[in-house]
Amino acid sequence: MNIHEYQAKDILRKFGVATPPGYVAFTPDEAVAAAERLGKETGATMWVVKSQIHAGGRGKGGGVKLAKDVATVRAEATRMLGMQLITPQTGPQGQKVQKVFITEACDIARELYLGLLVDRATQRVTVMASTEGGVEIEEVAKTHPEKIIKVAIDPLTGLQPYHARDIAFGLGLQGKQVNKCVAFLTAMYKAFTQMDMAIVEINPLVVTTGDDVLALDAKIVFDDNALFRHADVAAMRDEAEEDPAEVEATKHELNYVRLEGNIGCMVNGAGLAMATMDIIKLYGGQPANFLDVGGGATKERVTTAFKIILRDKNVKAILVNIFGGIMRCDIIAEGVIAAAKEVSLKVPLVVRLEGTNVDLGKKILAESGLPILSADNLADAAEKVVSTLKMKAA
Ligand code: ADP
Ligand code: MG
Repeated sequence: MNIHEYQAKDILRKFGVATPPGYVAFTPDEAVAAAERLGKETGATMWVVKSQIHAGGRGKGGGVKLAKDVATVRAEATRMLGMQLITPQTGPQGQKVQKVFITEACDIARELYLGLLVDRATQRVTVMASTEGGVEIEEVAKTHPEKIIKVAIDPLTGLQPYHARDIAFGLGLQGKQVNKCVAFLTAMYKAFTQMDMAIVEINPLVVTTGDDVLALDAKIVFDDNALFRHADVAAMRDEAEEDPAEVEATKHELNYVRLEGNIGCMVNGAGLAMATMDIIKLYGGQPANFLDVGGGATKERVTTAFKIILRDKNVKAILVNIFGGIMRCDIIAEGVIAAAKEVSLKVPLVVRLEGTNVDLGKKILAESGLPILSADNLADAAEKVVSTLKMKAA
């Protein structure tokens, strides 16, 4: 699960991570009030107005602006609130800005990168740092891999001061900056492990002209499987930032990820779902989604899954590929028929069933009177769904 920058900074600040103060605002009036409040509390005379959307690259899209007076804070907040902000990470349609973060501007001497993530290769929480701040780390990894410092942390010892000092020196920090970096990283590691984060990314981490080491941006991704331990974090979910179909799927415990193609897939089991997508591609088609309906594919789940697949206007055919192990094929066939009737299905539907009671399941499908194409195996199913599309196109 993702959260906004202002929420991420609130959490990090509680753990002692240094970051400039700021307040979130939903209206231009609130933005002005936030700027004035910061002025009183910290003596701030320059502010930064920052669009709060889950995607990064906001600066490039005009979603981060410096304001040297309160009138500019109002003007920028007015401009940003309600706009569709397009950044390299949002896609061409952009993301609607519904709140802005008003924060103190600081004098930047250097922009660095600092991240923590769970590295699958070493199975350890790993610190990634780079002198190339403000640039996407994937870009640095491609062009200057030697500029990324990586330190894997043994879970038994946790992050030790020497780890943090190694990183500070690797980033070229000097004098007072070193201990500030050590304190920063120690607090960040504590936040990461205690809050069950999957990724925390500080880009940029800045060194100010006054030798402070501060998080100017913060992105946190939480481990969904640990959210039950953090009700306060779960409450930070902003559904407006997520794909509505994916939100709906999560509510029904379906694993759904929208993709670019036009063949909707309904499959039970993540491995089978991956294999189904692969074989669709092998036969020259493009999957419209990944969808795992789970082990217990009940009629209700199958119906919801159909509805979610059909919300995607790009879907021109559906392939159902279900293995009746725990669930019997005849029950699944009945579920598919009921769902197809309920959503008054208009696109071609290919169904491949295998497993317990498969013959009965196929018979039920054949006798349903619905234009369902039954397939005998995975290759047959993929071929059929791809060729129905070709026929439609011809
Ligand atoms: P994004 O990564 O979405 O573009 P950032 O928060 O990283 O957004 O902001 C982009 C750039 O704006 C930063 O690299 C930094 O140069 C500048 N910036 C952001 N916040 C501040 C701040 N509080 N004071 C001064 N400059 C800032
Ligand atoms: Mg950034």
